[in-house]
Amino acid sequence: MANQPMSLGTACVQGGYTPANGEPRQIPIIQSTTFKYDSSDDMGKLFDLEASGYFYSRLQNPTCDHVAAKLAQLEGGTAAMLTSSGQAANFFALFNICNAGDHIVSSSSIYGGTFNLIAVTMAKMGITATFVSPDATDEELDAAFQPNTKAVFGETIANPALTVLDIERFAAAAHRHGVPLIVDNTFATPINCRPIEWGADIVTHSTTKYMDGHGGTVGGAIIDGGKFDWMAHADKFPGLTTPDESYHGITYAERFGKEGAFITKATAQLMRDFGCTQSPINAYMINLGLESLHVRMARHCENGQAVAEFLASHPKIAYVDYCGLPGNAYHALAQKYLPNGSCGVVSFGVKGGRDAAKAFMGYLKTAAIETHVADARTCCLHPASSTHRQMNDEQLAAAGVKPDLVRMSCGLEDKADLIADIAQALDKI
Ligand SMILES: *Cc1c(COP(=O)(O)O)cnc(C)c1O
Repeated sequence: MANQPMSLGTACVQGGYTPANGEPRQIPIIQSTTFKYDSSDDMGKLFDLEASGYFYSRLQNPTCDHVAAKLAQLEGGTAAMLTSSGQAANFFALFNICNAGDHIVSSSSIYGGTFNLIAVTMAKMGITATFVSPDATDEELDAAFQPNTKAVFGETIANPALTVLDIERFAAAAHRHGVPLIVDNTFATPINCRPIEWGADIVTHSTTKYMDGHGGTVGGAIIDGGKFDWMAHADKFPGLTTPDESYHGITYAERFGKEGAFITKATAQLMRDFGCTQSPINAYMINLGLESLHVRMARHCENGQAVAEFLASHPKIAYVDYCGLPGNAYHALAQKYLPNGSCGVVSFGVKGGRDAAKAFMGYLKTAAIETHVADARTCCLHPASSTHRQMNDEQLAAAGVKPDLVRMSCGLEDKADLIADIAQALDKI
């Protein structure tokens, strides 16, 4: 998975897989659960992680590994793995270094599913969390840490609040306290931001969104930047720095170094036990999306910017959250971290509150009501009555979700049609 000197667009198309003479040009779909060996000793070396190779597709599969290698290249990481979904990616990224009794510092402005995972489900496993505003000062950030804190978590561009994470500042806080920063980079994609270059240690993705890009395939990924020195904080991360008795006594950080320990442990241990694996066919589908990611992101951003500007000038719109607008609270951070554009998702409030927002959505024709974002077709959602409905008003406010907020994901259609659709729907309310 060495980083070849390839520009991002070329890596989208050709990264992760280089066919040899006479081999398929497209990534082959290795739809096989298992792999054949000549001797038990050959296979034993694989189980001991002494040789690299495949034995069972719950742990690793060549098709998935080609796509993971492309993602490592795109994010500037040293190792990567695919998971069955974005939820599995975030769970594995955190659970790989957090045990019962440990603690996470997380931005409060994150995807509803991830909030639920951390605040409710991981709490049941004995892993607690302190949520901080993405705008927290350094002092507020420092105050959130505990002696048992093992990770800091945030989203480059938060879904659905669209806050922009100050990655450098969050990374510095994490590193002051000897723990890694994990950044969910789903909305920005490596085309618009590469968090590892700003100090993040581990990057996660819901590949379901822009990477697949066509609303066809659920998937996730974890990419390790390979820079966090586990051994320098050995007491905090015993799972990486002491022998894994469930895996032939391997000490991951010693055997695989900073570059490989995290992903090897997550594969050998968490994939083995939880099995949230990506199927080879789905990995192939995601790769078709990756081949045009750099071309599509520019169009998503162009449409998002045009829709945001139209909404901002419309008298029936209460507010527009889009970091590409100069008046936006995150505009300065966006200029720093997202100089080429942010994403196609625009959040806004319709004057008249919750009911007006729902009525407006009912009149849209081109934009469909969906629990989705970031695919080719424009869609919209009312988070307070759908994805975030388990949150009380206080939690909604902390997550930056107002009751009248509409989240619109601008697809790849012509922007004039998107604006005309919004205009006719606003005229009817
Ligand atoms: C959708 C999403 C997830 C969850 O991903 P799934 O693939 O739906 O499991 C996680 N984080 C962000 C930012 C998302 O948008």
